[in-house]
Parts: sequence; C-alpha cells; structure tokens
Amino acid sequence: MKFLDEALKMKDETISFRRDFHRHPELGLLENRTAGIVADHLRNLGMDVSTGIAETGVVAILRGQSESPVLLMRFDMDALPILEDTGLDFASEVPGVMHACGHDGHLAVGLSVAKLLSARKAELPGTIKFVFQPAEEGAGGAEKMVAEGVLENPRPDYSIAMHVWNQKPLGWYGLKTGPVMAGAEIFSINVKGRGGHGASPHNTVDPVVAAAQIVTSLQVIVSRNISPLDSAVVTVGSINAGTAFNIIPQEATIQGTIRTFEPEILEKVKERLEAIVTHTAEAMGCTAEVDIKKVTYPVANNPEVTHVMKIAVETINPQAEIDQSFLTMGSEDFSFMMQGIPGCFMMVGSANAEKGMNFDHHHPKFNFDEDCLPYAVAIMAQGAIEILSRSL
Ligand SMILES: [Zn+2]
Ligand SMILES: [Zn+2]
Repeated sequence: MKFLDEALKMKDETISFRRDFHRHPELGLLENRTAGIVADHLRNLGMDVSTGIAETGVVAILRGQSESPVLLMRFDMDALPILEDTGLDFASEVPGVMHACGHDGHLAVGLSVAKLLSARKAELPGTIKFVFQPAEEGAGGAEKMVAEGVLENPRPDYSIAMHVWNQKPLGWYGLKTGPVMAGAEIFSINVKGRGGHGASPHNTVDPVVAAAQIVTSLQVIVSRNISPLDSAVVTVGSINAGTAFNIIPQEATIQGTIRTFEPEILEKVKERLEAIVTHTAEAMGCTAEVDIKKVTYPVANNPEVTHVMKIAVETINPQAEIDQSFLTMGSEDFSFMMQGIPGCFMMVGSANAEKGMNFDHHHPKFNFDEDCLPYAVAIMAQGAIEILSRSL
C-alpha cells in the first residue's frame, strides 16, 4: 500500500494526537507530559527509546535490515508563552501557554511517521533515529541535544525535519537548496555613563543619549556596509534605562538580534556593530561593552538530500506546488543537527484562508489546516525510504 493511503487511513489518529498536544501545551525544557506520550508510543512500536536528553528530549532508534546509512528525523515539541485566542474546542487548557507555532502538528506527524516506518522495518534499508526535541523556541534545545550526544552512537549520515508553514497554502512545499533560514545572534550592549540630576546634565555623562545615538547609528550597517545584493538584519528589540523623569541614570542596556545567511556577512556585521557601539559611546563620553552570542546557525539545505525530498513530494502529491526559491530571515535550531551532516528542512504549506486558518506563527489566533498532516506524514516516510535506499 502506498504511504499516502496509509497516512490518510491514520488521519484521525494523527489529528487526535495533534489536538491532545494542542490542549496540553508545555514550554521549552518542560515538555514532560508530551515527552511521556512520545516515549510510550515509540516503545510500543518496539523501538529502543532514550529519554531525558536535554531535560525532556526523546530519541528512538528504528533498526532496519542494515545498520547504515543512518537518517536522523527531528520533530520539535515546545509551545510558546502566548494566551490562546482561537476559540477552538481543543484550545489550550494552560492559560498563557499555546502551541502557536505548529509544533503540536510536528509531534503528531512524527508519531505517525514512526508508526508507518516501523511497520516496514523488515524492508527498511538502514537505521532511523527519531529525535523529539525540546525547546526549539529560543531555549537551545537542539544545541543541548547535540552537546548530550544526539549526533553520536550512531552518527547520522543524513538529517531531515519539517515545519508547517502558515504563510503559504495547503499543497505548497518549500524545498530550496542552500540557505533557507537565517542564522541568528543575540547582542547585548551595556552603555555606562555617570548619573546625576536631570536639571544638571552638564555634570553628568548621559548614557540615554549615547544609547539613542547607538540605536540610530546601527541602522547604517545594513544600509551602508552590506552589499545590496546580500541579506542581513540588525534589529534592536529592547532598550532600557532610568527609573524616573528627573534622574540621569548610570547606564543603559540595549538588546537585539542579527540575522544573516552567510558566515562572511555575519563577521562583517559583528565587526561593524562592535566598532559603531564602542566609538559612538566614546564620542558621547561613555563606555560600552558588547556581547554577541550565537542562537542558531543558518539552515542550509544539502542539494542531494533536498532533491530526494523533492522526489518524495512529487511521488506523494503530484499536484504539489514545489517552491525552490523560498527563504526567510526566521531561524531554526535544527541547524545544529545539520552541522557536518547533509540535511533538508522542508516547509509544508498549512494555511487555509477560507477557513480563517492563515494567522501567522506566534499569533494568539494561529491555527493551521490539519489536512496538511497526512501529506506531511506520507512525504516524510517516503523521503526517509528514498534517502536510505540511494547512496547519495
Ligand atoms: Zn516558532
Ligand atoms: Zn516553529
């Protein structure tokens, strides 16, 4: 039987998993209930299951006819600190926590793919490592899992993952080769001056004015230092200083993010950011410290693995609209599981404007069309078999 027929038969089960996870969302590194359900399901399928990796991560090994090649399939589990406003009958029962990115759907897809593939264990030409990852939304789940050895014993030869994508309709698949999501850094700037009375600015060194100059000056990095043909984002998302209207404070803090696709561009942005901050602060009589930390690498799709995933989409859904040019400045920590491992991150169109299911990810009214799920299940299963069967 074809994977799509099987996935369509399992549709109700897939949806009920999704709705259960949706009803009981858990924040990053706290996915205890979720991980328990995942681990039980995978154990019942007869897999070797390890739990507690990066707090709540679950890894299961499905051994086929041969040990190699090894394919890693990643599904993320965390929800977001958002008060749900969808009015769905399976809406979140946890106030202030919501599956507003679609990871509930990824979990359901992962469990159904595991079921489909374990039923074909005897014909599976390799090994599959199912990775259910905590804390994709900024708390470093993938990086922690890698640090705890998820890329060893056995080491994957390939890695794939998917994300429902509400900026595009059902039937759309994003499968670009090369960079598809940006690398992200967080920067923190501490501007130090000398506080005093708001009525005597000449006796102070005002860090608020210096911080304002810095925020304005940072805007020239993208407009003046980066080629118009390249891409970068420098965003200041938070600026804090002071406690009262008539006090010039001692210091000001600024935080923001850098997004880039290429390492050379990132280096250029970092170098310019540090120079602008340091010298602008100095020109204002202040001092400034800059701290830049990596959040994620860019997600860069390997051409061969992406080509095989494209074949999988065409096999399962001949009417699919395959977009080979879509990329976004958004970021994804699956990139940690693609470092040195050829992989593919596929986006699955999930919006349905007619049903009002087209709010963007992280919106309190976010919901996606569950009709995308059986297709995603069948494509991931088909992709896994195709990748293991070919020597890429
Ligand atoms: Zn998200
Ligand atoms: Zn997400």
